[in-house]
Amino acid sequence: MNPLRTNQWGIKYSSCMSNDFVVSRLRPFGETIFATMTQRAVEAGAINLGQGFPDEDGPRRMLEIASEQILGGNNQYSAGRGDASLRAAVARDHLERFDLEYNPDSEVLITVGATEAITATVLGLVEPGDEVIVLEPYYDAYAAAIALAGATRVAVPLQEVENSWDVDVDKLHAAVTKKTRMIIVNSPHNPTGSVFSKKALKQLAGVARAYDLLVLSDEVYEHLVFDDQKHVSVAKLPGMWDRTVTVSSAAKTFNVTGWKTGWALAPEPLLEAVLKAKQFMSYVGATPFQPAVAHAIEHEQKWVSKMSKGLELKRDILRTALDKAGLKTHDSMGTYFIVADIGDRDGAEFCFELIEKVGVAAIPVQAFVDHPKKWSSKVRFAFCKKEETLREAAERLKGIKKL
Ligand code: PMP
Ligand code: GLN
Repeated sequence: MNPLRTNQWGIKYSSCMSNDFVVSRLRPFGETIFATMTQRAVEAGAINLGQGFPDEDGPRRMLEIASEQILGGNNQYSAGRGDASLRAAVARDHLERFDLEYNPDSEVLITVGATEAITATVLGLVEPGDEVIVLEPYYDAYAAAIALAGATRVAVPLQEVENSWDVDVDKLHAAVTKKTRMIIVNSPHNPTGSVFSKKALKQLAGVARAYDLLVLSDEVYEHLVFDDQKHVSVAKLPGMWDRTVTVSSAAKTFNVTGWKTGWALAPEPLLEAVLKAKQFMSYVGATPFQPAVAHAIEHEQKWVSKMSKGLELKRDILRTALDKAGLKTHDSMGTYFIVADIGDRDGAEFCFELIEKVGVAAIPVQAFVDHPKKWSSKVRFAFCKKEETLREAAERLKGIKKL
């Protein structure tokens, strides 16, 4: 076993790497919580409800097109901004669903997953010393991008509303300073499974307008909303198109997390800044996947609706299992995730024990926060797995009572 290190969130991970040469900006980060928990799950033969990835493939025709593209010789660099057919499909899709007009030649950029779009957006638009507001709990890549930019992360906790979470607009307002440059928002929200209310998002937009802030809206779960909720795209809110970079990806919409094909949409002056950073990070993403994703956006929306409906059922299976195991569950209205409360115990310790003694992996929510005490009793479980996997997990979760 490699020596145990502790990251800035107090979570232990084993690493064979020395931290001696790592730049100070990155030293606090350690290994991502997903890598840590997945490795532990594999070693222990646990069912992995930690890292959020589906265990079923996306639409068949999309997979065939990717194979045809490879065998047909589409294997060199794509255009710098990405394959034209994918940019056109993304732009058309936003026009159809949200009545938002983006020029596919100058306002859509294909990236290496949403992750690269996020990092390039922060690196291209935020100066060292600027402050970036993130809503806590926040997806871990935001913290790393802000650190790489030499900027300062300001975490504003979400507020618990009924049995879920929403933006705390008063706290958000209070967190704005002269140095604030950007707010990063993510709805449907990872890790809580909340879908922020339109009212709160409108108020967030009001804060952005009042202080002339940019907004990075991470909408990777835009299609995974349940119980007849409607996804609100932040750029559509009054006065927001001009100041918003919207990020999404094929990963969660078409079950292809390994294709790392994402995109950023923004008005030209903003997107130029994102492109400036992105072109030197990867230049372009993998070419043959892009026409396949374009096909999927154009022709596989029924598949997406069915998959999303199926996820709702899977959420219900996992929620029932967690309830039966004696944990209090929060409402999940979207994404792959549901949060359970484990009471007085520490979430990270609980997750390690859960892997070893119960055979199920989950993620402690405190891995995504700056105020761990407030969140240490919350644990995230992923339900994006085959029904039989979830039923087996449900059996194992009965063992929680003995922990
Ligand atoms: N944002 C959020 C909120 C996520 O959960 C993820 C993980 N899918 C990403 C961004 C990264 O997406 P991708 O895998 O397309 O880089
Ligand atoms: N987005 C996925 C999750 O939240 C994992 C992505 C990753 O492993 N970095 O589980």
